[in-house]
Amino acid sequence: MKFFNLTLLGAAGVALLTGAAACSDSDTETGTTTTATTTSGAGGAGGAAGVGGATSTSSAGGAGGGQCAPLPVDPAAPNNWNHNTGDPLLGPEGWGSIKNDKDMPAYPQCGDTMLQQAPIAFPSPAMPWATGGVKFDSMNLSWSNAAVATGTKNSGQTWYTYIDSTKSASTVKYMGEDYSVAQFHFHAPSEHTIDGKQYPLEVHFVHTGGNKFLGVAVGLMFEEAANDNPVLAKLWDKFSECPTADAVDLPANTTLDLKSLLPADLAHFEYDGGLTAPPCSHTVHFAIMTTPVKASAAQIKKFADALGPTNRPTQKVLDQMSVTYEANK
Ligand SMILES: [Zn+2]
Repeated sequence: MKFFNLTLLGAAGVALLTGAAACSDSDTETGTTTTATTTSGAGGAGGAAGVGGATSTSSAGGAGGGQCAPLPVDPAAPNNWNHNTGDPLLGPEGWGSIKNDKDMPAYPQCGDTMLQQAPIAFPSPAMPWATGGVKFDSMNLSWSNAAVATGTKNSGQTWYTYIDSTKSASTVKYMGEDYSVAQFHFHAPSEHTIDGKQYPLEVHFVHTGGNKFLGVAVGLMFEEAANDNPVLAKLWDKFSECPTADAVDLPANTTLDLKSLLPADLAHFEYDGGLTAPPCSHTVHFAIMTTPVKASAAQIKKFADALGPTNRPTQKVLDQMSVTYEANK
């Protein structure tokens, strides 16, 4: 992962990005426990993707889930930031100024006004859009109907599910490189808005493994429906097991039909930004589907109630022309 500039992020960022061992019995990064926890290798969930934290850990031991463990604390990467817009110090406006244990900004990219930040407000898809340029091609999106989830983590600011990209990888090819879903996580309400509309829930599927981008994030918007979303239903009770900033294993070989989550119409907006949460690392290519998918009101409420608002406000668009729209094919 040559592109991934570790020194830029500093130890703090790395710790966050690599996600400090998500699963319980391997919680200590020193790995003193013997349970077979393997960071998913190159394909890796690992490394990148601080869009959420990202190390995918495979609990070979399987266990039956339900093993919460406190997340390790890294003074170089203060994890006390929040999504409260009324908090000038630790809320979104303050992220860029949060100091690490060396009294240096821990997340300088969050406050860098020369960088395109994420999320952004998309205008109407009905507008006339410039064509051409390099685009994310939804025809190259290949998600598995049996993705293997290895664990979840409640970071206190969002909630991650890690995918073992070595098994039934869910991939996207972008600019000639293959990226695989390493993790996905949720925001409530949605971070991106479309034509002024904010949805109650948004999920980001963070694909990693290429060199040109830290990651490719495919976002889906949820709208309320009467029935539970069956994919979310497989995961949602994990909230109750680990209600605070904790990690929990999923039962071994929990499979998720990610493909079924996709809307029939893959029209989407795209742009280059950074992680929507500290360390706000660049560069993440976003592709946000404009057709919402469905989850029950109860599912949405459960996530929102558990973590509160988990969205960064929309950010200024530095170059309107860099935002593109791709109609369905
Ligand atoms: Zn996200």
